[in-house]
Amino acid sequence: MKLIIHGGFFSESSKDDATKLAKQNALERIVKESYEYLKTHNAIETAVYAVTLLEDDALFNAGIGSQIQSDGKIRMSASLMDGEIQKMSGVINIEEVKNPIQVAQVLMAYDDRVLGGSGATNFARQHGFEVFSTEIPQRRAEFEAKLASKGLGTVGCVVLDRDGKLAAATSTGGKGFEIPGRISDSATVAGNYANHFCAVSLTGVGEDIVSNATAAKIVTRVTDGFALKDAFAKTFDELLPYDGFAGAIAIDCDGNMFHQDSHPSMVFASFDGENFEVFK
Ligand code: ASP
Repeated sequence: MKLIIHGGFFSESSKDDATKLAKQNALERIVKESYEYLKTHNAIETAVYAVTLLEDDALFNAGIGSQIQSDGKIRMSASLMDGEIQKMSGVINIEEVKNPIQVAQVLMAYDDRVLGGSGATNFARQHGFEVFSTEIPQRRAEFEAKLASKGLGTVGCVVLDRDGKLAAATSTGGKGFEIPGRISDSATVAGNYANHFCAVSLTGVGEDIVSNATAAKIVTRVTDGFALKDAFAKTFDELLPYDGFAGAIAIDCDGNMFHQDSHPSMVFASFDGENFEVFK
């Protein structure tokens, strides 16, 4: 059983030691709590559990603490991919829901599995997700001061469970100050993808991640026989011509875990029951 999570990148405005320590501690708590949960749950349930904890922590730009868009509203996106049955579900630009990843989980049982905008929000209401504002005063102050915090605090989780099943989940508040209607990579196969061989979750600039089809490429390369680290190396090389900004976490079906970022430094933590690693 293996678990790796990410909490996006450090933004320029949050590079101080206190924030770093807070993020390290939060990731350690969440990765270990999620590992405990994994002992009695499968990969997909655990991916949702871990991302829910990350969404609930205002240190990260997903769920509570999400970025505010250029029109003053928060719109969030999240997706879930079950590597075993190879199904993806997601919500794009959903509003006033505490845990977008849980709406994605409910959608897994439907034929129409990725919903956007008011359709996603209405679906959530019909399924018992109450109106919940994920805005925190710090984000509003940043918005009002037009201090575009550089976004980049998306969260994600990839899991290998005891039956060898893989799952990936990703959730974001977006870049901050974006044009309403902009679509993040997080609920696309570029930002979140999994199959029997590999599961990947991304953070970074959505436009760069989508342009490179990053998660789908890494998973495809591993499926076709690349070692995980070689699949990462080739895929990250392909970001270089346009200075693509991305960070990714992954696990393959042999239990290898890997992470890489094109620009330092992605915030991540991993745990396999014995070995714990957190970003420095
Ligand atoms: N990937 C997200 C987006 O472009 C931002 C992030 O990772 O923080 O919306």
